[in-house]
Amino acid sequence: MDKYDYVIIGSGASGAAVAEKISSDYKVLILEKGDYLPLNEAHKGYFRASSCKDFEEHGKIEILSGNGVGGTTLLAIGNGVRTQEKELKKLGIDIEKELDEVERDFEVSPIPENMLGDRTNLFIEKSKELGYKPKIMPKMIDFKKCKKCGKCNMGCQFQAKKTSLHYIENAISKGSELKTNFEALKINKRNKYFEVQGMEKGNLINIPAKNVILSAGALDTPKVLNNSGIMTPKKLFVDIFVTIGGKSNQSFKDEINMAAYIPFNDFLISPYYSERIIKMLSEKKIESKRDNIIGLMIKIKDDSFGYVDKNFIEKYCTGKDVQKISNGVAIASRILKKLGVDMIVSTEAIGAHPGGTAPIGTTVDNQFKTKMGFYVCDASILPESPGAPPILSLMALGKKLGENILNST
Ligand SMILES: Cc1cc2nc3c(=O)[nH]c(=O)nc-3n(C[C@H](O)[C@H](O)[C@H](O)COP(=O)(O)OP(=O)(O)OC[C@H]3O[C@@H](n4cnc5c(N)ncnc54)[C@H](O)[C@@H]3O)c2cc1C
Repeated sequence: MDKYDYVIIGSGASGAAVAEKISSDYKVLILEKGDYLPLNEAHKGYFRASSCKDFEEHGKIEILSGNGVGGTTLLAIGNGVRTQEKELKKLGIDIEKELDEVERDFEVSPIPENMLGDRTNLFIEKSKELGYKPKIMPKMIDFKKCKKCGKCNMGCQFQAKKTSLHYIENAISKGSELKTNFEALKINKRNKYFEVQGMEKGNLINIPAKNVILSAGALDTPKVLNNSGIMTPKKLFVDIFVTIGGKSNQSFKDEINMAAYIPFNDFLISPYYSERIIKMLSEKKIESKRDNIIGLMIKIKDDSFGYVDKNFIEKYCTGKDVQKISNGVAIASRILKKLGVDMIVSTEAIGAHPGGTAPIGTTVDNQFKTKMGFYVCDASILPESPGAPPILSLMALGKKLGENILNST
């Protein structure tokens, strides 16, 4: 088999961006564990930590991510904010130009006023009355196609949400190859080259490559690193969130989730529809339905404290995390009271932005290179929890690595 110049493991936010950048100049193979799912079936790619062994004994924080071509971006709800710019700059990585490029590629823009729903408008009005400063969320959504169904996290049946599939399609049109249902297990070094070992249809396969870019996401990248002989630190963060809410006496139509937000130092608050609120209310004998509940998400910058093992994910809330959540809950409940909610319930702790499992400065250098000489580029290299949607920055990191590779030849 002819050697590929670069084998990229994982086709998510960072992997797809780097593939798109280098595909005209190099022979590239993208390996993806999941299927090539249409956007309206993206929910089939959900991975939940609660399906891991002994979930209850390892912290019981539900962690969400996705498998499939395009990675977890297919399940994202389109939020497109800049995060981690300053933190990365301190490490010698400037992603400003790349962020500009990503914003142009996906036409990221705040939701137009006429697309804001009644819940969001009420949230904005009442939180302003309390002296807070809500902002409109920038989104990676084509608003001409969006029907405000509020189900972005299931995929998108109207093809309005913009995802990493855009970069993957471009990379393929420039000559990259894509292999789906291939799970990379290990990277071996063979003299000055590499070999990716993985499973395809039950068979163990070795793929030779001049170099490898590991972009399997923060829950899988550490497993591949550990199998390859690179031990990773216990620094998993997940941007823990809870959604608190209750029944309102008004009737609302469906609307875009997280359409506005209030940023604080360690957390953000944003209107979020959660089916779990209906379940929690019914446990208290309060009947509610989709159109009469209001929810607010409190998403924190959590401590880098947790890790991924072969069969489980260990992640607890630290004392500091609990403090941040309760600070957020105190403010969000004031807003909910103003919105007319009497009985407030809370979901359990969830995390949808896993990262930090192979951080810059520990596992990789600021060129994203490991001591074995291959690259890692995904949320695992982030130095700390952003406490905010990270896709734009992860795509920018992918572009940055691509440019470094192009400039090094
Ligand atoms: C429900 C939900 C909503 C979200 N909404 C937003 C949002 O609105 N805005 C935002 O900025 N962020 C959002 N996020 C977070 C965001 O999607 C992730 O932080 C981001 O996609 C992570 O990028 P990544 O490149 O690290 O990994 P991923 O995008 O997860 O990509 C990793 C890829 O690698 C593949 N893979 C894994 N292991 C292997 C292996 N061994 N071999 C081959 N392939 C492998 C996976 O199948 C996957 O395709 C959301 C997350 C969830 C769960």
